[in-house]
Amino acid sequence: MIIDKFQRIHTYLRISLTDNCNLRCFYCMPDEEYEFTAASKLMQRDEIVGISKIFVSLGVNKIRLTGGEPLVRKDAGDIMLALSELPVKLTLTTNATRLQHFTGTLQKANIHSLNISLDTLQPDKFLLMTKRDHFREVKDNIDSVIQQGFHVKVNMVVMKGLNDNEINDFVDWTKNFPVHIRFIEFMPFSGNRWTSNKVFTFQEIMERIKTTYTTTEIQSDVHDTARSFRVPGHKGTFAVISTMSKPFCAGCNRMRLTADGKLKNCLFSKEETDLLTAYRNGQDIIPLIKQSIQNKYAALGGQMNTGFENLHAEEIKNRSMITIGG
Ligand code: SAM
Ligand code: SF4
Repeated sequence: MIIDKFQRIHTYLRISLTDNCNLRCFYCMPDEEYEFTAASKLMQRDEIVGISKIFVSLGVNKIRLTGGEPLVRKDAGDIMLALSELPVKLTLTTNATRLQHFTGTLQKANIHSLNISLDTLQPDKFLLMTKRDHFREVKDNIDSVIQQGFHVKVNMVVMKGLNDNEINDFVDWTKNFPVHIRFIEFMPFSGNRWTSNKVFTFQEIMERIKTTYTTTEIQSDVHDTARSFRVPGHKGTFAVISTMSKPFCAGCNRMRLTADGKLKNCLFSKEETDLLTAYRNGQDIIPLIKQSIQNKYAALGGQMNTGFENLHAEEIKNRSMITIGG
């Protein structure tokens, strides 16, 4: 069992397959010339499987593959199929640009639930936010996987003055489709030009939705990082991830493994534990995993104790989101 000093049992591992991506979302990938990690420094397929087995032996029952964009990695399909042999719920977070090539593999790998990023329903704004003109493929792929019966959560990072005026367009999407929209408060990471006045908070999101819709809350699970709602009569649902204004750290059961094999005990931790080098040297990594989780802070990596309004992004020590794995 992997447990921290606040008695939180950790059963959920997120594995980043790569820090490479075919989009350039400005809130995730730093502006300056970005160098992707060399392939030799990334965890190889058998290393990902071997390290995952060790986590499973310690009680992990859910693994999410993420990145960067996991589906740009050449052996992403092989990795999914290999991990599907483990007794875990396997899921994936993707930008959906390459999803049309993977639906067969996803089904074979028993991946039925997908988190997909889409921050705008307007093609011009998509280009502005991602610096790539792929709106049509992304939207078509999302529509297609919903139709094929995958459980789809759409992640929308809400930024004040940029896309907050589309919140109700996303809620409208839930009217006729069984899609689950997750509005995410904008979070600070290295190089992403975060300022507190760009955060559109849980309260503001709900106020905006209530100008148009009646909503009812859906009971959430202790480990949920979101509060979920439904508009009566709609086929889909929506949720708000209020990491900045109302963090959900008390029920946290998550650990993150970066593509270069570093364990992060929190999305916002500045400390990392190098599991890959130890694993390559034949060292027992179980004590390293347990120690890392023992060192976990009560909330937000111990870095955001002031309330987000008083936070200065430069003071937070972390990686950029693309190199962590969301
Ligand atoms: N490429 C995949 C994708 O875009 O879904 C997976 C990796 S991406 C880093 C994972 C999630 O992190 C996405 O839903 C993205 O919107 C979210 N994310 C990235 N930067 C963020 C930020 N600064 N604040 C909030 N969410 C962020
Ligand atoms: Fe790529 Fe996903 Fe980051 Fe956008 S959010 S740059 S798609 S990794």
